[in-house]
Amino acid sequence: MNDYDSARLLDLMAAQGYARVSAPEQADLIVVITCSIREKAQEKTFSDLGRIREIKRENPAVRVAVGGCVASQEGRRVLSRAPWVDVVFGPQTLHRLPELLEKRERTGRPQVDIAFPEIEKFDCLPAPCAHGASAFVSIMEGCSKYCSYCVVPYTRGTEISRPMMDVLVECAQLAAQGVKEITLLGQNVNAYQGRAPDARSTADFALLLEYVHDIPGIERIRYTTSHPKEFSDRLIEAYGRLPKLANHVHLPVQSGSDRILAAMKRGYTHDWYLERIARLREVRPDISVATDFIVGFPGETEEDFAETMRLIDEVGFDASFSFVYSKRPGTPAASYPDETPREVKLERLQQLQAVIDANAAQISRGMLGRVERCLVFGPAKKGGGMLAARTDNNRVVNFPGDPALIGSMASIRITEVFPHTLGGVPAGDAGAAAAGEG
Ligand code: SAH
Ligand code: SF4
Repeated sequence: MNDYDSARLLDLMAAQGYARVSAPEQADLIVVITCSIREKAQEKTFSDLGRIREIKRENPAVRVAVGGCVASQEGRRVLSRAPWVDVVFGPQTLHRLPELLEKRERTGRPQVDIAFPEIEKFDCLPAPCAHGASAFVSIMEGCSKYCSYCVVPYTRGTEISRPMMDVLVECAQLAAQGVKEITLLGQNVNAYQGRAPDARSTADFALLLEYVHDIPGIERIRYTTSHPKEFSDRLIEAYGRLPKLANHVHLPVQSGSDRILAAMKRGYTHDWYLERIARLREVRPDISVATDFIVGFPGETEEDFAETMRLIDEVGFDASFSFVYSKRPGTPAASYPDETPREVKLERLQQLQAVIDANAAQISRGMLGRVERCLVFGPAKKGGGMLAARTDNNRVVNFPGDPALIGSMASIRITEVFPHTLGGVPAGDAGAAAAGEG
């Protein structure tokens, strides 16, 4: 349930002589990377483990490891609920899996290691392998914000940044393998405070972006996730100077109600968020803004929800990851009185999503005729010799083109707008563009 951790684990295990198989029934080792951000994700772990138990009944030699945030939160309790598990490891002990498996064989007993050994993990993982022209690079781990509803600070530990040189070396290694687009990863990337190359001072996120921007071969930079409170003037100014920074930002707001934002302990208000977006749009007038919402936080009234809908109108979000509030054991909000019926919450969620979907459709229509810088990532799903590329604002464009373009950036004129994709032609191709516009 975590693409980045899974990819890093695959690299690590490949170095140990493991290869990936296509079905769990064929595996010698089954690793489940879990998520506990919402109850549903957490419960999926145990339903997956139920299925794995059947596989282990057939083949007792198979080893089962559980990693990620459920493992971190539950520790040994994973073994009491699923005694057929051999190894439990946390988000910060991923690199110790080979050692834990070895110990499991040697002692004949299940192993649990969910410590937070600071940033050791990154020093122990192999250099990243590029798979295509787009790659993720983790720049910081954990979170120290303690929003009242969230498990992350407890499961992944407090905020810790990787040294700037380590991040830059990793980006350069990926660029050397043909990567054109880097997504910098962390719970709050803009809280980044990494050791600067001079080893005496610390670098902030804006400075890191500037250095990544200078790496030859990197043509587009994205990041996720950032926090509104730390969306600094320096970061906004970076958008003016750094053209490789994608014209898209994902800035989770969670709610538009000041009362709810305070109860969530987000540390900002409706107007603060609006002001940050307004400043950003002074520098990048057409930037696309995506966000996250939690609907139905304990005590959310119709008036609070109306404030959220007002914010949506004011910002004109292009996309959102929105969920109904999920009570997480051990967080402060778990004890807040919550009287809103679930149906009401679901109805609010649908209402919110419908408005954002309508915004997105309108933004797509506005792209007709425009030339977009896109990363060509492969053949189009529908075939027919077409290629597929991704715009800055995360839309897939299908266009006719030379397969040699795959893995590079291309300028594409948008000629068609469909509900879920766009159609285009290479922007140099004047004849086809005119035909498309006609
Ligand atoms: N650090 C980021 C988000 C990390 S968690 C930030 O602060 O914005 C990813 C998303 O999961 C959050 O943005 C939030 O919308 C959602 N989320 C976290 N805890 C949740 C909970 N208890 N119930 C529902 N959604 C939750
Ligand atoms: Fe969770 Fe994000 Fe808040 Fe950290 S800032 S506690 S990750 S929601």
